[in-house]
Amino acid sequence: MAEDMIENNEIYAEYFRSTKTLAFDQRTNLDEVESLMKKFNDWELRHCKNCGNKISDRKQLICEYCGEELKH
Ligand SMILES: [Zn+2]
Repeated sequence: MAEDMIENNEIYAEYFRSTKTLAFDQRTNLDEVESLMKKFNDWELRHCKNCGNKISDRKQLICEYCGEELKH
């Protein structure tokens, strides 16, 4: 569980750092943006956006940890 949290935080940090950078850098390669968005979307499908816990069943509608509604 601790390793999961570290992994989650790293992905979040990377995502927000990158989008913040992109907002000020017009020269950024669009492929790079798409690749990052895809990576984040893939991650988002497997984790609760609210608490960051791993979702055991992709078909479930509510997070089993915090009760947040999951949108797929
Ligand atoms: Zn949750």
